[in-house]
Amino acid sequence: MPTDTTAGVSFAVDEETGLILDSLEEFLEREVDPIVEELGDAYTNPRKGHREDGRWSDDLLEAREEIRRRAAEAGFYAMNLPESVGGEDVSAVTWYRAKKRLASHGPGLARYALAGPEGPKPLLLQAEGEQVERYLEPTVRAEKSTAFAQTEPGYGSDSPNMETTAEKDGGEWVLNGRKQWITNAPYADFVQVFARTTPQEEAGRYGGITCFIVERDEYELGSYNNAVGAEGSQAEIVLDDVRIPDDRVLGAVDEAFYAAMEFLSLGRLELGAEAVGYSEYLLERATEYVTEREAFGRSIGDFQQVSAKLARGKAKTYAADAAGLKLAWKMERDERTVMDSSILKWFATNVMWELADDVVQVNGANGLAEENPYVDLLHQARILRIVEGTDEIQLNTIAKSMGVTD
Ligand SMILES: Cc1cc2nc3c(=O)[nH]c(=O)nc-3n(C[C@H](O)[C@H](O)[C@H](O)COP(=O)(O)OP(=O)(O)OC[C@H]3O[C@@H](n4cnc5c(N)ncnc54)[C@H](O)[C@@H]3O)c2cc1C
Repeated sequence: MPTDTTAGVSFAVDEETGLILDSLEEFLEREVDPIVEELGDAYTNPRKGHREDGRWSDDLLEAREEIRRRAAEAGFYAMNLPESVGGEDVSAVTWYRAKKRLASHGPGLARYALAGPEGPKPLLLQAEGEQVERYLEPTVRAEKSTAFAQTEPGYGSDSPNMETTAEKDGGEWVLNGRKQWITNAPYADFVQVFARTTPQEEAGRYGGITCFIVERDEYELGSYNNAVGAEGSQAEIVLDDVRIPDDRVLGAVDEAFYAAMEFLSLGRLELGAEAVGYSEYLLERATEYVTEREAFGRSIGDFQQVSAKLARGKAKTYAADAAGLKLAWKMERDERTVMDSSILKWFATNVMWELADDVVQVNGANGLAEENPYVDLLHQARILRIVEGTDEIQLNTIAKSMGVTD
């Protein structure tokens, strides 16, 4: 008989989570909104917030750092990490709800109030000895930022085939290769770089890869990789005979890919939470608009072709949220979540994509207006469907988990 994995599950917001969400709301209003308002649309409009070479303006970068630092001081920024390293040890369910709540305020710089790719990920919890004080703890306190460098020009989905190498030379490692599309590479204090240390023929498909901590002045920044909707955030990293001391290996030699796979579900939970939160924001804004806007003598929400778009979006967002909560709940119980996390990532990001398109449509020309966030959210959804495993990779994982494919 199949095991009932939902026994004892509750959809109620527990008291502690409720308090955290309320204080997060207050924090955003008191500490973050004034910073965001002062910047105007510099974050979403590259013409205003970026220098000619593609880099964020100093004002934008300072604002981001201020939001991160204030959020860390208030105990929100990396609250999912253990207390022993400066986090608050909140549950995966609470972290999911907080990430979703943040996104439900809409797109913008406020997203940096909770750690994303620039902040500490559990991979960094492998830090040992001096690495803890030098890299992990300052990143939890948002005094430093980081990046995760896996993708290369020739290998994205197929990243275990990476060509970047690290060779041991006495007490040092010599790194050679090129990474691309690395989020926060232009601003990071240090990057977690994945490199091949043992050939695949010896170590197997996922073995033989090691993670190295490479500091900002040790790598060269290549071109910016400007995705529409995320300009100035991603760039290439060029590693040309970069010598790294042995004590900068993060975790075990040859085991980095396995370590990263352990945290795949968390990354997908976070992206799912973002997609659901943005979808909730879209639904709220669109409901307001279609009930106020009139055409042919009545509000456009009365037209079934308009109301059905929002009703469908609501039903799908509701289902995506349930999938997110179930994944978080299973993670809390240390259950296997490979399939659940792929389902959430694929479903929630596609729901957001379809909904954002519908919300542009029900807004008419207003939906395309630069001052409105709808096209930006369409771009964000498109990005979410590519990063941390594309749609196709998620569907491959689901099919494999079902036993449909090997
Ligand atoms: C905004 C942004 C931020 C990013 N941040 C980072 C970062 O911080 N660090 C990092 O390392 N990388 C980052 N990336 C890179 C991202 O992880 C890759 O783009 C992603 O993994 C896909 O790889 P690719 O672009 O090389 O596409 P490819 O792997 O070349 O895929 C191209 C197409 O082929 C399909 N495809 C490939 N293999 C299969 C298969 N087996 N079955 C079915 N279809 C398949 C894909 O689904 C896709 O549709 C970022 C990318 C973007 C756009």
